[in-house]
Amino acid sequence: MIRKDLDSLDATCLVCLQTTPRQDLDRLLWCDTCIEAAQARASRRSWYIGLAVAAVLALWIWLYIQPSTLVIGGWIGTVVGAFYVSARVAREVLYTVTRLRSPPSVGAGPPEEGMY
Ligand SMILES: [Zn+2]
Repeated sequence: MIRKDLDSLDATCLVCLQTTPRQDLDRLLWCDTCIEAAQARASRRSWYIGLAVAAVLALWIWLYIQPSTLVIGGWIGTVVGAFYVSARVAREVLYTVTRLRSPPSVGAGPPEEGMY
């Protein structure tokens, strides 16, 4: 089997350990698939965090502010806004933490030989 000597142009993704062209990896050596997976995971978790923040805020408003029915719409808007903003912030934080932690490729195997 003839294998092209392109090692200098290839690099290994730090997450899934797949060897891909260097141009397909970002500066932390993550491939597109792993970046998308990390973003999707962060996005999914962030909605739960947003929901938790909104629930606590709604409970606090309900128990301590006890809004009258006249202004309840404004408070609902506040809770919805808090839900959205905290979910967005949580998504960025979760994604950044995932990137900085650089997982030790748990469950990933070495690239299979003979793929070329
Ligand atoms: Zn990868």
